[in-house]
Amino acid sequence: MVDRMFETIDGASVSLAADVLAGLAAGLRGAISFPGEARYEEARTVWNAMVDKRPAAIVHAAGASDVIQTVRLAARHGLILSVRGGGHNIAGSAVCNGGLMLDLSPMRSVRIDPRALTARVEPGATLSDVDREAQAFGLATPLGINSTTGVAGLTLGGGFGWLSRKHGLTIDNLRSADVVTPAGELIQASHENHPDLFWAIRGGGGNFGVVTSFEFRLHPVGPQVIAGLIVHPLSDAKRALGEYRRLIAQAPDELSCWAVMRKAPPLPFLPAEVHGTDVLVFALCHAGDLASGEKAAAPFKAIGKPIADVVGPAPYAAWQTAFDPLLTAGARNYWKSHDFLELGDPLIDLLVESVRSLPTAECEIFIAALGGAINRVPVGATAYPHRNVSFVVNVHTRWSRPAEDEACTAWARRLYGAAAPFATGGVYVNFMPADESERVRSGAYGANYDRLSKIKAKYDPNNLFRTNQNVAPAV
Ligand SMILES: Cc1cc2nc3c(=O)[nH]c(=O)nc-3n(C[C@H](O)[C@H](O)[C@H](O)COP(=O)(O)OP(=O)(O)OC[C@H]3O[C@@H](n4cnc5c(N)ncnc54)[C@H](O)[C@@H]3O)c2cc1C
Repeated sequence: MVDRMFETIDGASVSLAADVLAGLAAGLRGAISFPGEARYEEARTVWNAMVDKRPAAIVHAAGASDVIQTVRLAARHGLILSVRGGGHNIAGSAVCNGGLMLDLSPMRSVRIDPRALTARVEPGATLSDVDREAQAFGLATPLGINSTTGVAGLTLGGGFGWLSRKHGLTIDNLRSADVVTPAGELIQASHENHPDLFWAIRGGGGNFGVVTSFEFRLHPVGPQVIAGLIVHPLSDAKRALGEYRRLIAQAPDELSCWAVMRKAPPLPFLPAEVHGTDVLVFALCHAGDLASGEKAAAPFKAIGKPIADVVGPAPYAAWQTAFDPLLTAGARNYWKSHDFLELGDPLIDLLVESVRSLPTAECEIFIAALGGAINRVPVGATAYPHRNVSFVVNVHTRWSRPAEDEACTAWARRLYGAAAPFATGGVYVNFMPADESERVRSGAYGANYDRLSKIKAKYDPNNLFRTNQNVAPAV
C-alpha cells in the first residue's frame, strides 16, 4: 500500500496514508482495488460507454460490514463516495472521479421464501438474478425490461416493467430495506421502522444511504405467459399508434404493451428485406393465465396488417431477457425522457416523423404505457410522484464512435424540445442523463421534493451521498 490522494466533498483533496488504506483492506471480507488493476478497470466500466471516470480506489464489498467500514471512512475524511449496484444508470453515477467507489456487484444473493411470498435481495443482484430465483417457484415482482440492470438502482428510483400495471412499481412491492446511513449505522427501514426513510428511498434514489438488502413482496406469475412482438412498417405507424392508444386505455391491468420505433434488427422471424427498415414494434406481455392473455392480446394483434406477429405462450423468465441483445453494455448512449398524460395526434406525428431521421441504426424511440396499479397509489405515498402518468417516452440514442457524440445528443435534445409542449414536465429519475440536474426538483420530484429535502437533512446533512440525481439537504 502507498499513500493516495482522494477528492473531498468540499472540493479539496486529501491524502490517505498507506496504513489507513491497509487498515481498511484488512477489515474487509471483500477487497480494495486501485488504478491499473484489472478488477478496478472492470468495476469502473459501466453500461454507458460515455462514462469514463476514475475513482482513487474501489472497495468491492462482500457484505454489510464492508459497506459500513467504507461509508465510515468516507464520512470521516469527507471523501467523494459513489455507489455501484448494477452499473446501468445512464448518468454513470455509480462511478466518481478521484473519490472512493463502493462496488456492490459482488453482493448478489437472492433468497426466496415461497410460503411468505417474499424475496431477500442483495444490492449487486441483477433483474435476472431475481427473476430466475423467483420463477423457480412460479413467482415474480415487478422489475424492468433488461435483465442485466441492477435491482438496487432500479428500485431506488421507482422501477417499472411488464408486471407494473398489475402489481405496481418495484417500490410498491418493497417491504423493507437495510440501509447503512452516512453515519455508518445499519438501520432497517419499513412502514414500522424509520418510516420517513422508507418513504424517501422509494423513489428518492441513493440520496439517503447504502441499501445492503431489499425485501420484496412476490406474486404468482407464469412460468408461461402470453408475450411477444408485433412488427408494423413505419408507414402504418400513425394509424397503428392511434388504435394502440384506444386499446391500452381499455386493457386489463394484466396486459402491458409498449411501442418501440427504430430500424428493424435482423430478427430471425422478420423477412430479410425488412431488416434495417423503419418499423413500429409493439412489445406485449400479459401477467395472468394463458387463456385470459390470448383474449387480452387479440385486439392488439388485430391492429392493421403487421409484418410479423410472434405473440404467444413464452416462459416469463425468457421474456424478461428478450430485449437484452439490443441493450448490451459498451455502446455510447444518451437519453432524453418525458412523461405524458396522453398520446395526442400531434405527439404521435412528431415521434413517427422523427424516426425517419434516427442518427444511427441502434437508436430508438420507446413508449412505455403505465397506468393500472401504479396510478392507484397516492402521489404522497412514496417519493416517486408521477402517479397520473399514462405514457413515458424515452428517446434512446445509441452509437459506437466518439465522433458521433455531438450529432446523436443533438438529435435527442431536438426531439425532446419539440415534444415538451405535450409533456407533463415530469421525468422518471432513472431515465435522466448526467446533464439534467436542473430537472431534479420540479421534474423528478415535484410535490415531493421539499419532504425529500427535509429527510435528506435529517439522514445526510453533509450530502455525503451526492454522486446521484441529487436532493439538496434542507437548510
Ligand atoms: C438498458 C436499460 C434498460 C432499462 N430499463 C428499465 C426499465 O424497464 N424500468 C425501469 O424502471 N428502469 C429501467 N432502466 C433504468 C434503470 O432503472 C436505472 O438505470 C438504474 O439506475 C439502474 O440501476 P443499477 O443498480 O444498475 O445502476 P447503478 O449505475 O449501479 O446505480 C445507479 C445509482 O443508484 C444508486 N445506488 C445503486 N445501488 C445502491 C444501493 N445499494 N444503495 C444506495 N444507492 C444505490 C447510486 O446513487 C447509483 O449512482 C433501464 C436502464 C438501462 C440501461
